[in-house]
Amino acid sequence: MKVSDIKLPLKILGVSLSVLTAIGCSQIQTEEVTEQDHPQVKNVIMMIGDGMGPQQMGLLESYAQHASSSIYKGQPTGLAKMINNGTLGLSLHNPAHTLVADSACSASQLATGVPSLSEAVGLDLDGNPVETVLELAKAKGKATGLISDTRLTHATPAAFASHRYHRSLENQIAEDMLANQVDVMLSGGIRYWIPKEANEKGDAYNALVKQTGGTVKIKSKRKDNKNLLNEAEEMGYSLAFNREGLSKAENGKLLGLFAYSGMQDGIEYSQTKNDPARTMPSLKEMTEKALDILSQDEDGFFLMIEGGRIDWAGHDNDAGTMLHEMLKFDETVNYVYEWASKRNDTLVLVTADHETGGFGFSYSRSNLPEGVKVSGTAFEGNEYKPNFNFGSFEILDKMYNQKKSFANIMADYDSGDKTPESLLTLVNENSDFDITITQAEAILARENNDYQVAGHKYLKDETFPKVKDFKAFYVYGNEIRNDLIGRALGEQQNVVWGTGTHTNTPVAVIAYGPEHVAKQFSSMTHHVEVGQLAKKAVAGEL
Ligand code: MG
Ligand code: ZN
Repeated sequence: MKVSDIKLPLKILGVSLSVLTAIGCSQIQTEEVTEQDHPQVKNVIMMIGDGMGPQQMGLLESYAQHASSSIYKGQPTGLAKMINNGTLGLSLHNPAHTLVADSACSASQLATGVPSLSEAVGLDLDGNPVETVLELAKAKGKATGLISDTRLTHATPAAFASHRYHRSLENQIAEDMLANQVDVMLSGGIRYWIPKEANEKGDAYNALVKQTGGTVKIKSKRKDNKNLLNEAEEMGYSLAFNREGLSKAENGKLLGLFAYSGMQDGIEYSQTKNDPARTMPSLKEMTEKALDILSQDEDGFFLMIEGGRIDWAGHDNDAGTMLHEMLKFDETVNYVYEWASKRNDTLVLVTADHETGGFGFSYSRSNLPEGVKVSGTAFEGNEYKPNFNFGSFEILDKMYNQKKSFANIMADYDSGDKTPESLLTLVNENSDFDITITQAEAILARENNDYQVAGHKYLKDETFPKVKDFKAFYVYGNEIRNDLIGRALGEQQNVVWGTGTHTNTPVAVIAYGPEHVAKQFSSMTHHVEVGQLAKKAVAGEL
């Protein structure tokens, strides 16, 4: 028997090596198969869909498979390819002593492999820094990278390269990331990297406008005059501020800051995707560049890629935008899948930090279906007429057609004449679903904030938008108006929302790469353990 004859069935069946020996193969042949089946993992790519619970994955799959205008045209999603050719597990993500995670805690647990505290980054339960998977990779001589379509210093990327008691310390987090010398950092949030004096619109401002090419809004949130862009350049980083700059960047350290705060939302990206005038790179384009650079390192690399605005759409109860965020993330997942599928030294993990919004398609007593004739014998003499509205696939196409996020609709509203009529026009112009004037009035109604806390970043206001039920779970002041639009459209969308914050629904952990490594992630687990495994993978111990 030749080795080539037995390799294929052995791989398919996952037969153990003892079987090999039992059927009479020599030791040499066994080792050959072992090496083939157990290639070393050199690169680890962790992709985090922030707020991407199973519900959000279901939204994407439903659209991909059932929307008549689906951009997938019968092809599987990137997520489906990863799952079908990799492994799938489910993971809890709660902090050590509470039920629900925020992004900082969840990402910290993924990054460090130890239980962490709510709203802290890169710390253990006592508040001590813990080496992250990125820092471990660096210690092993590997290249490192962080990518997000939110801000570089936002909670998710921060947890991989910073150790601070609170996620809001973004000025310090920017300094930590630079001190950590993460090789490739691509995202938004330039406001934490430029000196305070830029806000005076004098020389410092003009120099920054010139340096960035005028494509990024220049305004600082720093409390000092540190110019971290200059510091980065002195450390040997190339800088990029737009798509062109990114594509021209050479190998070596690269810092790309492409927006004042968050980068394009999913709808904005979808509308400008094929526009050559688009100046902001996409999540996928940032990923392409990062993989080009990081894969030059012969010791391998660790790269974290965040689709961070799925969460933002979930917080806004904005299903149309959430679909587009999923499409943006999945485009990148697909690219990474194709990249990794051509090699056997890379482990890709795709997971989420938590679910956002308690989203779901649901059936209702509204818009009941008409009876129709069906040909089957069981229906002879009877119409097919279910008791309830189980949701038409057309909803998916209409959701895709949304022209603006609710956040941008409300920004337009606030810069206009601020009447219920203007809100009605804005919502109905930008969505295939319509609100009524009564609903517009309800979205704008305010009430006493029963949960007011003086000096609290989010809860200080005396009045809040008026929420009818589960009020305590809508926490972000004026942004609750976005949620109220979503809830007003829910009946037409067959959509329900449970909250304006996060849920603790277990999230998927998809692993794709060498089988003996990937299969270790296929379990009912917790993000602390996923983080431990990711560290072991980086250390070559899986
Ligand atoms: Mg995030
Ligand atoms: Zn969130």
